[in-house]
Amino acid sequence: MDAVAEIKSRLPIDQLVSRYVKLKKAGRYFKGLCPFHQERTPSFVVSPEKEMAYCFGCRKGGDHFTFVQELEGLEFKDALKFLADIANVTLPEQNTHLQQERRSERDRLYELHEEAARFFTEQLAVSPQTRGAAAHARTYIEQRELDPETVRFARLGYAPGEARGHSDELYKHLLNSGFSKDEIITSGLAFPLDATGGSTCRDRFRDRLIFPIRDAQGRVCAFGARALEDGDEPKYLNSPESPIFHKGSVLYGFGEARNDIRESKSAILAEGYMDVLAIRQAGITNVVATCGTACTEEHLRQLKRTAQKLILAFDKDSAGRNAAKRTIELGLATEMPMTVANWPGDVKDPDECLKKDPDAFLTAIEKSTPAQIFIFNWLEESFDLQDSVQRATALKEILPLLTAIKSTIERDTWIQRGAASLQVSPSSLYDELKRHLGKQRMPLQQRPAIQEENRQNGLSEEEYLLGLLLTYKELSSIANHIVDETFFRDNELQDIYRSLASEYNPILEDSAQKKAEMLVLFIETMNTGLSWEELQGELKRTLRRMIQNRFTRQKRELVTKMKRVSPEEKNQLLEQYTSLINEETEALRSDTLL
Ligand SMILES: [Zn+2]
Repeated sequence: MDAVAEIKSRLPIDQLVSRYVKLKKAGRYFKGLCPFHQERTPSFVVSPEKEMAYCFGCRKGGDHFTFVQELEGLEFKDALKFLADIANVTLPEQNTHLQQERRSERDRLYELHEEAARFFTEQLAVSPQTRGAAAHARTYIEQRELDPETVRFARLGYAPGEARGHSDELYKHLLNSGFSKDEIITSGLAFPLDATGGSTCRDRFRDRLIFPIRDAQGRVCAFGARALEDGDEPKYLNSPESPIFHKGSVLYGFGEARNDIRESKSAILAEGYMDVLAIRQAGITNVVATCGTACTEEHLRQLKRTAQKLILAFDKDSAGRNAAKRTIELGLATEMPMTVANWPGDVKDPDECLKKDPDAFLTAIEKSTPAQIFIFNWLEESFDLQDSVQRATALKEILPLLTAIKSTIERDTWIQRGAASLQVSPSSLYDELKRHLGKQRMPLQQRPAIQEENRQNGLSEEEYLLGLLLTYKELSSIANHIVDETFFRDNELQDIYRSLASEYNPILEDSAQKKAEMLVLFIETMNTGLSWEELQGELKRTLRRMIQNRFTRQKRELVTKMKRVSPEEKNQLLEQYTSLINEETEALRSDTLL
């Protein structure tokens, strides 16, 4: 048995999933709240029989490996190690086909970043060649009081070159290390000087202090770079997005902090690289920061897997408070409890607090202010709530937060507290909220994609119909004189349908096969316990809806055409329109559909 099969047989998939998700048994399946997206009714289904775990809301999941890869953000070979560890399976040391597999583009990019990180650290170290150039980088590190251990741990480095001039030292070094021009450009560490792709490239980072950004597995995947001279803009410059770096999902310091976050059950979110390093240096290790971007839902989801609470350690200035407010709004939407560190008196940010009084820092973290209190304190300090105009502005500020709250009980406590702050009655605040919600939902309903898809618990109508036909062969025989290929606009679904309808059952491609299995899995769990009549009813309802939608689309096309044509042509189109209506009535009158 190979390692993959052995892992699957030793570690039942529901056991694996239970490490992350609370599962409830439902017949031959388990169901739970999806770990990949926020939801309140479970659409995450686990089938021990089929060895699959899949979400029909967000379409994530699959077998043991896909599940772990997506949830832990691992490559296949790392997922293999991860799962082998849990399942107690020893992996063969050599000659696995994986090791022989050609290294992917991503692997090359990680190697390139590792090489660049080595280059930058060498430049920072004191050496005859770099003494002059990197001196102000070393001075900056001294001024910020980072000790050598922290510098080593963070792998700080220096990017040589003239800030505003041309420099290609890193580019040349990477070329000499065996990386191609294309690979270097993909990494974003250098860019071609002219748009025609001439031979010379310029380094992205010139004369800057370098902070390597590592992913959750500790691999360098990007860099942040700080300007060293006043007037060099921007102060912080980051790697652009690349196949291995998505700033909306990478957290600076997360790989190193993960275990401590898990143990302490809380994470500290700081504003930048320097804050993370200063806080770590003080011995507080459950700290992360975003990489030059505002906190995203994706960041919070990642943190939520290990932390039960997030402490915002932002600057005390208005930018910091606004960032805190935005992050709290996201926290309410993702149900991530948050508090805000409360710096004493004249201290402006975490770094200053640590330097003045490390104990005060600990107190600020331990006695951090709950999100709700922070928000209403901020509201009361920022607006004159006696003034009706300012009160209206304040109301506008907090409505989005109230809207974001999922739990009605939680929302009630916010409304009570908000009403007191704004000096209105809770019921009138509640009415404002309802009005606001109404305004928000309107544009959503007008989005045609949603109207047309009319999803069945996450499935499109096409998928739902195909799922019914795949799962219940008897339904196929009822539907076969109405349904044909044209019912499926998606190519993959069309292939699956063809294979189902054909006597010879052509072999499906892997992804189509997987999709077909998922559909059966979902339809089975969804329709467990339905009688034969009820199943027929499901089929009929779906078919009717699909037929109606198809005619609606055709009618809409005709109407659009009519606006652009001459009166005679318009008459013709009107006739077509009338006959479409007749066809539709006829089609829906079919015995099968009644
Ligand atoms: Zn999901």
